[in-house]
Formats: sequence, structure tokens, C-alpha cells
Amino acid sequence: MRFGSNESIPVNSTRANMCHSPMSEFSLVLDSTPEEIQAIRRACFELVPTMAIQICEIRTNGSFLKPEILMQRLASIPIQTDANSFCFKEECECESFCPRCSIRGTISHRAGSKTVVVKSDEIPRAIGGIPIVALVNQEIDLDWVALKGTGRQSAHHCPVSVVIARDGKELKIESIHYPAKIVFKKALESLATFCDKFADALDHTSNGHDLHDRDP
Ligand SMILES: [Zn+2]
Repeated sequence: MRFGSNESIPVNSTRANMCHSPMSEFSLVLDSTPEEIQAIRRACFELVPTMAIQICEIRTNGSFLKPEILMQRLASIPIQTDANSFCFKEECECESFCPRCSIRGTISHRAGSKTVVVKSDEIPRAIGGIPIVALVNQEIDLDWVALKGTGRQSAHHCPVSVVIARDGKELKIESIHYPAKIVFKKALESLATFCDKFADALDHTSNGHDLHDRDP
């Protein structure tokens, strides 16, 4: 279900007509070039940070799942928290992990003859109801660590499930990590930060002379 429509916002020199829904879906038609829209699309995929489980220390795995499959399942569970309230691990001053750079937890279950389905509800701030593993007369015991990252580092950090550019003019964003409109805004902010860094680097590089400064 959608609500709202035809709200116009300035995006630099472009105009956008947008509508959004409570289902984390956001679509807009941009009066921009295909190259500009592709830049925003790629920024949505690659530059908007999220939190995702990256590290798993398995003490016991009596399930039918191989450890690497179990790890993949944990890593693919969307965690709905603002990653900007955390720092990247490589930027943190702690020796291992701390609340500034990580979310940590433990999953520990021992099932009897009755099936126990371990779900994502055990992971704080994760989307609930996602089955991780089913246990019957089995046991798992593990610690997990979620870290901040981007889709450029790993697909598990990608915050968008669908981004489509139709006719070179329309973007449709669906996200399960953030409200889709927030992904769009964060992507624009990331692009602006990238451009600022690029311009700053040009100002400080010895090779950044204007053509007119060169000797003929
Ligand atoms: Zn830390």
C-alpha cells in the first residue's frame, strides 16, 4: 500500500516527484541524466553502511548445517539499527570489540526430541521471525559479533533489496534495514562526502594543475 504522492524536492539541479509507503518502499522520478541516476543507484547499494554479523565463534554445532552455512545464515539477517551510531572496526581504539564498534551476542540451544527452530528474534534489533536452524536432539552454542560495513565490502551489508532504474528516469528503492527514503538520503550524503574528499585531494595533489598552468 502506498500513500502520499507528488511531493517535489530539490536535489541539486534536479527535481524529484516522490511517494513512499510504510513498507520501506520509495520511488521517485528524477529529471536527471542516466549517469546521475546510476551514481545514486550505486551509492544506495555500496555506500550506505549497515550492521551485519561478520564474526561467529562456534563452540558447539550439532545441527545438520555446516558451520559455513550457519555463518552465512547469520550474516544475511538484516539488523535494523542506524549504523552511523557505530564506528568502523578499523577506526575504533579498542583491542577487540566494544559497544562503539560492535553488537555482540550468544545463541545457545539444546533441543530434545521436540523440534526447536532457532530464529532471528534472538538477535537484538534484527528482523524477527527468520529461521536460522532447526534442532532435534541437537545442540548449538555460539557467539556472534555484528560490525559496521557497506555493500562495497560485502553483500550482507547492502541495505537495499531492489533498486531499479526504469527508462533512465525512475528509481524504486526497497529496503529492509532502514526506511527506504532514509537510504536515498544517506546515499546522497555519501556521494557528497565522496565528492568533497575528491575535491580536497585535487586541491592538495601536485598533479592537480589546471591545463592553463602548463607550459606550452
Ligand atoms: Zn571498539
